[in-house]
Amino acid sequence: MAFTELGLSDKVLQAVESSGYTEPTPIQSQAIPHVLARRDVLGIAQTGTGKTAAFTLPMLTLLETGRARARMPRTLILEPTRELAAQVEESFIRYGANHRLNVALIIGGVSFGDQDAKLMRGVDVLIATPGRLLDHFERGKLLLSGIEVLVIDEADRMLDMGFIPDIERICRMVPFTRQTLFFSATMPPEIQQLVDNFLSNPARIEV
Ligand code: AMP
Repeated sequence: MAFTELGLSDKVLQAVESSGYTEPTPIQSQAIPHVLARRDVLGIAQTGTGKTAAFTLPMLTLLETGRARARMPRTLILEPTRELAAQVEESFIRYGANHRLNVALIIGGVSFGDQDAKLMRGVDVLIATPGRLLDHFERGKLLLSGIEVLVIDEADRMLDMGFIPDIERICRMVPFTRQTLFFSATMPPEIQQLVDNFLSNPARIEV
């Protein structure tokens, strides 16, 4: 399988080439066509399998049409830690170098001011930890009614850190019609329950 066979846009293929990737990893070749078809995906995969690009590359392709509005991000990626969130931001910036997209990071431990300003400008890709995201929501600085794609990454780590109630709240605040991409290294019962409640007929990919 070649990257060119997956349905990614030319801009994204250029970024893949600049990254020096010669062929997609198994999670990428299996997940990317489903993401582009706007299907929900359950990816059972560890870090190191290339799962970040498996959602980042097709999301960049999907984001090439449409435009962000103030306070209404178009896509939301939830990460359990600030470090992981920052790494995913870096991936969007790197792979999205040919795109004119606004990427914002909403994590704890930094002041609200800069984050508010970014949200006001209109955000295509919002990467967040659950607690800080809910803080912004409660302060009225953020609307989740424009979310087209929701990514829940490292779900089993979210469980270990006690974030499942926050994730459930956020899942109820985004539109029912959104696309959900869900990644976990393991599938304990609590995680399977989340999948059953919040994903719609997902493509299940295990690598
Ligand atoms: P991840 O599992 O998303 O943390 O990615 C692990 C590492 O694999 C990252 O450093 C990526 O830059 C790299 N990577 C992702 N996709 C590919 C690919 N198709 N070919 C080679 N390296 C890749």
